[in-house]
Amino acid sequence: MQELNKLDTLREIIDKGQYIVALCGSGMIEECGLSPLKEQERAYRIEEKYGRSPEYLYTDAFFNTRTETFYDFYRNEILADVEPSASTYALAAMERAGKLKCIISSNVYELSERSGCRNVINLHGSIYHNHCQKCGRQYSVDDIKKARKVPYCEICGGVIRPDVSFFGEMLDSDKLSRTLEEIEKSDVLLLLGTSLSSEVFHNYIKCFEGSRIVLIHNEKTLLDEKADLLIYDEPKNVLPRLGY
Ligand SMILES: [Zn+2]
Repeated sequence: MQELNKLDTLREIIDKGQYIVALCGSGMIEECGLSPLKEQERAYRIEEKYGRSPEYLYTDAFFNTRTETFYDFYRNEILADVEPSASTYALAAMERAGKLKCIISSNVYELSERSGCRNVINLHGSIYHNHCQKCGRQYSVDDIKKARKVPYCEICGGVIRPDVSFFGEMLDSDKLSRTLEEIEKSDVLLLLGTSLSSEVFHNYIKCFEGSRIVLIHNEKTLLDEKADLLIYDEPKNVLPRLGY
């Protein structure tokens, strides 16, 4: 199918959709200019600097035992200044138009909310939310940036932890059940910038009982054959052209 026809097909699918849900994978953050932690070059650079792989550094065990080094890594590598791409603004417009019902996202930068999306599930948490491990008091990302080394609670002195999921951690069960509910309710599923290698996405899509799966990604995925519409491109080159 020609690219232009594909865009028409996408418009038609969205027009007919009653309950559209979008799943946003790591491609949505890559198109904002940030490569994944495990991406080869970035992982190599991190390992050179810290003597450990990102898989080792970005874990609960490392956070608990080498908190100061963890925070050095976290400030330099995770607390990046990432601006939303045209994709999430397009999703917000689709949501305002009543078309898109829920955005399920894997980035920790609240890209969707910052673009104006409202019903968002951030599966891996958010760098903007942090809490004291002892008393639970909430802290902003600025508090984390301001602390010179380990950020401590100003009330009880406990260590502050970012509300993000580290590698190997279980995802929040409430978010997982909401994700499942939304997928079950949807009749059109937009898979955006995801190769579906994440277990959650891969398994949950099996519960989709709707009529159309649309896949927009610039790499081959495990679901290419099942997709009703497949567009090999970055979502930011496609979604804004829908005209919402
Ligand atoms: Zn505290």
